Amino acid sequence: MVPSPESSLFAFHDMTAGRQFLPYGRQLVEDDDVAAVAAVLRGDYLTTGPAVRNFEAALAAATGAGHAVACSSGTAGLHLAAMALDIGPGDGVVVPAVTFLATANVVRHVGAEVIFADVDAETGLMGPAELAAAMERAGELDIKAVVPVHLAGQCADPEGIWMMAVDRGFHVVDDACHALGTRYGGAAVPVGSCRHGTMATFSFHPVKTITMGEGGAVTTNDQAMAERMRRLRSHGMVRDAAMFENTDLAFDAGGAANPWYYEMPEAGLNYRASDIHCALGLSQLRKLDRFVARRRALADRYDALLAPLAPVVRPRKRPSACRPAWHLYVVLIDFAAAGTTRAEVMNRLRNDGIGTQVHYLPVHHQPYYRRRYGHQNLPGSEAYYERCLALPLFPGMEDGDVDGVVSALTEILTGKPSVGASTQQRAT
Ligand SMILES: *Cc1c(COP(=O)(O)O)cnc(C)c1O
Repeated sequence: MVPSPESSLFAFHDMTAGRQFLPYGRQLVEDDDVAAVAAVLRGDYLTTGPAVRNFEAALAAATGAGHAVACSSGTAGLHLAAMALDIGPGDGVVVPAVTFLATANVVRHVGAEVIFADVDAETGLMGPAELAAAMERAGELDIKAVVPVHLAGQCADPEGIWMMAVDRGFHVVDDACHALGTRYGGAAVPVGSCRHGTMATFSFHPVKTITMGEGGAVTTNDQAMAERMRRLRSHGMVRDAAMFENTDLAFDAGGAANPWYYEMPEAGLNYRASDIHCALGLSQLRKLDRFVARRRALADRYDALLAPLAPVVRPRKRPSACRPAWHLYVVLIDFAAAGTTRAEVMNRLRNDGIGTQVHYLPVHHQPYYRRRYGHQNLPGSEAYYERCLALPLFPGMEDGDVDGVVSALTEILTGKPSVGASTQQRAT
């Protein structure tokens, strides 16, 4: 289990040999996942084969969407969605400031401008109020789409945002990279069903709820958009004779399509997900309910054990209509009240073998965006960012791991060993 250096971008790992380390997130890959991948490796198709279609069908079923389009990453999915909506120069896309870089970057990659929305300081989420305020700042830009980010697995108010979209004529593309398995509307509506949106994008990076190694997908109920994204993920190529435009080149004298012939009506990319990746994704998807149940149980245990640390440590506020499939377990900590700093807490936890992470530095602070858009006043984002800390959460964790994290955090913040939590060592 030696992690590659690249993985430290997402998960801190202790590189000192032999030490047990609890990262803030990691995959759970089991023997049947390995067997599913091995079967593809021994088969006829390593890419563009049946595993891709099977994974897409299973993901559509799991989310309740009409169509799922698999692709090479969550970022690729966001980019495909932006292309399929014909977003381009002169357009604006509203993105909450507290998100991963990719949500904003794809907007720039299609030549449009990012309008950063503020988020609620207690949830980290953009709701209708923050969206309305961002739209006020759009100026001349034509707002084509809004990208709600279901941070750490929670969603704010999908119905409310969709009502604004219908009213004002923009698309909603959910960045659901944290939220596979989340439901809302009294648990009736799965995220990704696109009941209140145009499309939803998912990531299957190893820290996400299920993994393909690298991979992503877009769900939608719009068949034409799904077909267009399938073309765009494969260079924009068309092999369906009914779509050929260059009839002089496409067909022989008898009107039959030439057997070698393909066309490219618009320029795409290679954003395909291979059969190897999709076989892993399909095998993992079968475990979604179990993984989500385990994540919820661990989050409940954190909630209970951390309660004595209130008000210095509090869980994020829970939007009542959302039933989250926790991707991250995030607490809000008043570091000043505890007489410390976040860096010190993170460093001390790391020395105790516990990984944590901050999701996210508000994206408008990135040098690229500061240069492009200047200073932005988004106080909810700052207040959320200053206090947030993700503690370890992944389905392979044991109850004792949670106890150990709470006990270490308690000691760091209060100077006293905790009473409630056992100091049991990590068992694996
Ligand atoms: C992980 C993530 C992405 C990007 O997904 P990749 O598969 O890493 O490209 C986009 N948005 C959010 C919110 C994410 O967490």
